[in-house]
Amino acid sequence: MGKSTLFNRLTRSRDALVADMPGLTRDRHYGEGRVGERPFLVVDTGGFEPVAKEGIMFQMALQTKQAVAEADVVVFLVDGRQGLTPHDKTITDFLRKTGRPVMLVVNKSEGMRYTAVVSDFYELGMGDPYVISAAHGDGVHDLVNEALDLAFKQRPEDEEELQPEQKGVKIALVGRPNVGKSTLINTLLGEERVIAFDMPGTTRDSIEIPFERDGKQYTLIDTAGIRRRGKVFEAIEKFSVVKTLQSISEANVVVLMLDAQQDISEQDAHIAGFVLETGRALVVAVNKWDGLQSDDRDEIKIDLDRKLDFLSFAKMHFISALKAAGIGPLMKSVDQAYAAAMANLTTPKLTRALQEAVEKQEPKRKGSMRPKMRYAHQGGMNPPIIVIHGNSLDAITDPYKRYLEKHFRDTFNLVGTPLRIELRTGK
Ligand code: GDP
Repeated sequence: MGKSTLFNRLTRSRDALVADMPGLTRDRHYGEGRVGERPFLVVDTGGFEPVAKEGIMFQMALQTKQAVAEADVVVFLVDGRQGLTPHDKTITDFLRKTGRPVMLVVNKSEGMRYTAVVSDFYELGMGDPYVISAAHGDGVHDLVNEALDLAFKQRPEDEEELQPEQKGVKIALVGRPNVGKSTLINTLLGEERVIAFDMPGTTRDSIEIPFERDGKQYTLIDTAGIRRRGKVFEAIEKFSVVKTLQSISEANVVVLMLDAQQDISEQDAHIAGFVLETGRALVVAVNKWDGLQSDDRDEIKIDLDRKLDFLSFAKMHFISALKAAGIGPLMKSVDQAYAAAMANLTTPKLTRALQEAVEKQEPKRKGSMRPKMRYAHQGGMNPPIIVIHGNSLDAITDPYKRYLEKHFRDTFNLVGTPLRIELRTGK
């Protein structure tokens, strides 16, 4: 069908960091894209057999159904070379019942006449099909723009204005069900003067909780699987991948919560992988630390260090949300990660740091190419992007890039945030 090809085009995978994470991103189903000022989230559903009753196909169909229910727009991709199949009809019936806005998109249209490509698909009764070639990129840009227009139309009017100005650090608290997210929220809010309130009229089920702690402002955003009941927050059964990902992309700092008494799961790893891709700052909170024997604690620490090796830029805290232990230091790390993510790195400072790095260790030449780095400037925040300018920078190896990253990290004390290094060779 070409779903993965389209997905990669829409999200333009940023593989620099991701390449270092064995096993995590092989099946990438969620990604972030952006057109102009409009960011969006893409969910690539695994595949679809609406009638499957059990097994992997059934699980996939469940996931797909949830993704469809939560999407602002569904892109239904069919194969222009293959033509209309009975399967397409089954899926159309299903999609129609969900009531979600659907765009019918015919892929693999390169080199074919428009009328020939679409004629088959009118039968589905979904209006004029969009025609694209994911492999060649034809029509993809228009498709995204149409999809975003449609998505914004779905939103309640003036939603932007209903959102009060967000104050302070925006935090996403994420983790699988039962790790203790609602317990932590209650502990956080119970300890302090709470200025929490719900915002009616915002996006489906959205909660945003501004609060103050030690005189500092924070906003907890949209924690998936949590519902407010009176003054307390409680967990609901359902775990929503889409909501989790949305809250991550809206946050400045993500607190990834793990359960000390359980093994790290694939779901934990997926969430961590997505945090890395978006480049958000990160603090890891290992919860339920109470009631563990010290032998167990040592073992758990070693195991986590090994498995979360790829998150070594982030601070890890061992806490008890229930007993309110370790919360102060955790929030300190949130502040630190935020400061690092928003650091203002001037060109003179960056260039000096770059020169120091090169003095200590020069990049190797590659064939006849001798890379020459001239200066560096900051290309963005949250995550900080350091753009290095020079000549023959293609010759710079990944290990050397990592060496530079570490040098910048140490020089500017960038703890808790991913850091991106971009190389730009001058003309
Ligand atoms: P959520 O689904 O992530 O919101 O998890 P909950 O906050 O509902 O917690 C799930 C269960 O773990 C509840 O029974 C909590 O009482 C328990 N729990 C949460 N935090 C802790 C903790 O720090 N220590 C212990 N021992 N249990 C905890």
